[in-house]
Amino acid sequence: MTTALIIVDPENDFCPPRKDYPNPTLVVPRGDEIVPPLNDMIAHARKHGWHIFVTFDWHPEDTEHFKKFGRHCVAGTKGAEPHPDLNLNLRFERSNTFIIIKGDKKKDDSFSGFDGHSEDGKSLLEILSSLGITELLIGGLATDYCVKATVLDALKHHFVVTLLTDACRALNEEDGKQAIREMEEAGAYTTTTCDFLRLSVNGCA
Ligand SMILES: [Zn+2]
Repeated sequence: MTTALIIVDPENDFCPPRKDYPNPTLVVPRGDEIVPPLNDMIAHARKHGWHIFVTFDWHPEDTEHFKKFGRHCVAGTKGAEPHPDLNLNLRFERSNTFIIIKGDKKKDDSFSGFDGHSEDGKSLLEILSSLGITELLIGGLATDYCVKATVLDALKHHFVVTLLTDACRALNEEDGKQAIREMEEAGAYTTTTCDFLRLSVNGCA
């Protein structure tokens, strides 16, 4: 099986306030707690030569989507940048790391990474297929919206999908629990990063 890691929307506007970004606009409670487990998975992915996909909510200044969610992740702003502690060097390490942007039109919600596209206009599905990837490990923000939509679409496209439950957080805790049940019912496996890595290597912190 050829595996890839998908990190959904690990963006500043979804993370709790920090000194260097004090006013995030759509905070997912404890959203920054996804960073340590995702860094473990990124290290594992690099070691095994897996491709890494990072999706970005990448909205225009004005979109219908803000009527429900308020302004967030406007393209090119600091709010749309990844959490700085996430160990991604997107500027220099591009050979097996792909950026997928989504929600960049005036009227689309694009919760799912499968609604997005690379900078050169390829869909996520096209890229995954061209690389022969059949298995996806998925974490990110938020469990009850974009993570859920991405996982359900991946299952529809017949990928083997594992949700990393410690590497995602929900906007609403109860909705997050319900979302995990829905993903499992649709066929997703769930595990923690630590358990996954224990199966693959000799333990983790
Ligand atoms: Zn959005």
